[in-house]
Amino acid sequence: MSSIDVLSVTKLSPFYEAHLRQHFALHDRLHESDPAAFAKIAPQIRAIAASGESKVSAELMAKLPALEIISVFGVGYDGIDTQAAKARGVMVTHTPNVLNDDVADLAMGLMLAAARQLPAADRYVKDGKWPNGPMPLARKVSGARLGIVGMGRIGQAIAARAQAFGMHIAYTARSAKADIAHRYVATPTALAAESDYLVVITPGGAGTRKLINAAVLAALGTKGILVNVARGSVVDEAALIEALQNGVIGGAGLDVFENEPNVPEALRQMPHVVLAPHIGSATTNTRQAMGDLAFNNMHHHFSGKAVLTPVPECAPKG
Ligand code: NAP
Repeated sequence: MSSIDVLSVTKLSPFYEAHLRQHFALHDRLHESDPAAFAKIAPQIRAIAASGESKVSAELMAKLPALEIISVFGVGYDGIDTQAAKARGVMVTHTPNVLNDDVADLAMGLMLAAARQLPAADRYVKDGKWPNGPMPLARKVSGARLGIVGMGRIGQAIAARAQAFGMHIAYTARSAKADIAHRYVATPTALAAESDYLVVITPGGAGTRKLINAAVLAALGTKGILVNVARGSVVDEAALIEALQNGVIGGAGLDVFENEPNVPEALRQMPHVVLAPHIGSATTNTRQAMGDLAFNNMHHHFSGKAVLTPVPECAPKG
């Protein structure tokens, strides 16, 4: 297979890149670094290796007449033009399930960190302020009301953890799930109105752009805490900053942002906001599992076997 040409469109995780280099001829972001060399090799490129944050446009695909598969290292694939891929008969795969635990762990971690002010508590002790008196009191998580926006694979893993915290769980999604015992609420605004904590875990893309807007934040209320581990695009970031500045909501825990890796100065200055640099799946164990799965999808395809985890748009019917 070392004769099969693969274009990577992002700086890949070493767990994915090492596999690819062993088995394929990998052209690392050649379309950006050397357009002339890319133009020569483009007719031979049969696969694209991407990450969950990569953009693969119809325009790029049009330059690759031999393209057969796009294997995404990540579960989210909102940057891939799946319509164009499907129209061309190009398979798109992703890495669902193997990262559920990590992302759910981080959601709980951000919720606890924001509610119990863990970063501030850490600074309090390290800065030697403790001898001068105790920290201000924080908010309780156990037993509180949790709203989950998006009750898919990761949303369900968050619910399982929250249940162990004795939280009262409700959720919204595009439709109610017959196999989920938690209560379905039709809209994010209605869900926010009855939640102390609102955790967002939908896909990104056009269908969820700014789903969490000023109205949802107003409904969450002055004591409410928003946690976003989905995509930056799902939350109206300007509305969120305004809501945090004006005390419309109580705080936030954010792993994802509209314009990563750039995070607005206003958010970086806020004491009642806990920030993380998009680390939902960023453990060695999980990145290894994602690398294995992303590679195996591509390897299966070129071995004439069915891919393991196609995105729903490319999955065989029935
Ligand atoms: P999933 O199983 O496909 O679940 C997605 C859920 O979102 C479903 O319940 C779906 O509802 C709901 N949803 C979709 N569009 C919606 C809308 N417009 N309004 C309300 N709910 C909507 O996906 P997953 O595996 O749980 O992953 C979810 C997302 O997490 C990924 O796509 C990715 O963006 C993000 N993620 C982030 C990180 C990180 O590092 N922070 C890591 C991994 C994943 P229906 O079932 O009714 O359609």
